[in-house]
Amino acid sequence: TRRVIPESEHQIPRRRLDDNAMKVVYRLEDAGYEGYLVGGCIRDLLMQKQPKDFDIATSAHPEQAVELFRRGRLIGRRFKLLHVRFGREIIEVATFRASHNHDKAGKDNARTADTGMIVRDNVYGTIEEDALRRDFTVNALYYDAKDHSLIDFANGYRDIQDRCLRMIGDASERYREDPVRMIRAARFAAKLGFEIEPDTARPIHELAPLMRNVAPARLFDEVLKLLQSGHGEASFRQLRRFGLFQYLFPLTDEALDDEDYPVETLVVNALCNTDRRLAQGKSVTPAFLFAALLWYPLQRRMQELEDETDLPPVPRLHEAANQVLAEQVKHTAIPRRFSTPVREIWELQLRLPRRHGKKADQLMEQPRFRAAYDLLLLRENSGEDLDGLSQWWTDYQAANPVSRREMTPQER
Ligand code: ATP
Ligand code: MG
Repeated sequence: TRRVIPESEHQIPRRRLDDNAMKVVYRLEDAGYEGYLVGGCIRDLLMQKQPKDFDIATSAHPEQAVELFRRGRLIGRRFKLLHVRFGREIIEVATFRASHNHDKAGKDNARTADTGMIVRDNVYGTIEEDALRRDFTVNALYYDAKDHSLIDFANGYRDIQDRCLRMIGDASERYREDPVRMIRAARFAAKLGFEIEPDTARPIHELAPLMRNVAPARLFDEVLKLLQSGHGEASFRQLRRFGLFQYLFPLTDEALDDEDYPVETLVVNALCNTDRRLAQGKSVTPAFLFAALLWYPLQRRMQELEDETDLPPVPRLHEAANQVLAEQVKHTAIPRRFSTPVREIWELQLRLPRRHGKKADQLMEQPRFRAAYDLLLLRENSGEDLDGLSQWWTDYQAANPVSRREMTPQER
């Protein structure tokens, strides 16, 4: 069933539509293909939120679409896409896809693992098929630039008005096809403040272990979207509620029961800080978040190494960091450009207490000083007893050179 919602009803202001995305749509239409704005951007516009990016769905196959754009580039294997670049902005163009139970699903274009998981997804189809293979109804609305109407195949328009997150089709089956949809449910519920419809929520707890089958690289991408959504704290609570957090951060999840450390307080504070920074338009580095989320697992490992070995503190930190990161990357990959700073932020936690003479100024020169200081603040604010160390660093940074010298007596 296809419902058309005219502009007079949906009232998305035309000026809110991204110019470059509209150019891509018009170019596709001029070449005789269909092209629509689709997905998160339409959902966000209907909710008066600024979309993060504008995605396009088209009847043109990737090889046909790429011909139309000078700055177009095909990417992806599991899911072939066209990227069209306009300066710093990238518009993503995806060909209509059908679900896998379709006749056209030759074994080269579609593959399903024995767990029911889709491992290749390049079976093309009609716009209606494309709508029905999307995850949630609110993510399956198409904006038609020809008459500025919305096309709705899954009652997503009504669900947006009812603030309801509903899986298209049979939720269990859809989670089995792609377990990441469970995390997406938690993320969208948090981001949009929607209720998850009962049939959509119910299977998650039981199917959560399927998360083990998702590639760590993909989970890393999902974790970034969760943590950098501006709703990290709400996402964390949803993930915990559904028993999903343990598959993303198993060591952190285990540590949540640890009475020796204020783990939950620190995690929640870290996420709240991040949400606040994002709300102020500031950037956040994933390295800081990973350093914070894995801080107590690191502390516990260091404690164990202290009991088992006679390594001095710095090598003990390095060994514990290796072990904790090695365990974490089995679940979410961490590219080296992030894991190196994570280690540096941790190492600075050992060095920040040593402040005499010129040491304090040298520490402030370190590229990770700011993030390390932020973690120190977070630790103390979350209840670790550091004897006012973060306050000292706050004062030191604000002080002039003379008072700085008075604050840092020479070593005897
Ligand atoms: P965000 O605002 O976080 O970008 P989004 O809805 O745009 O949210 P994307 O990950 O950018 O999310 O995906 C774009 C669209 O592709 C979604 O709106 C949805 O229609 C579809 N989609 C993405 N991931 C999946 C998935 N795992 N299964 C089914 N459909 C998906
Ligand atoms: Mg998007």
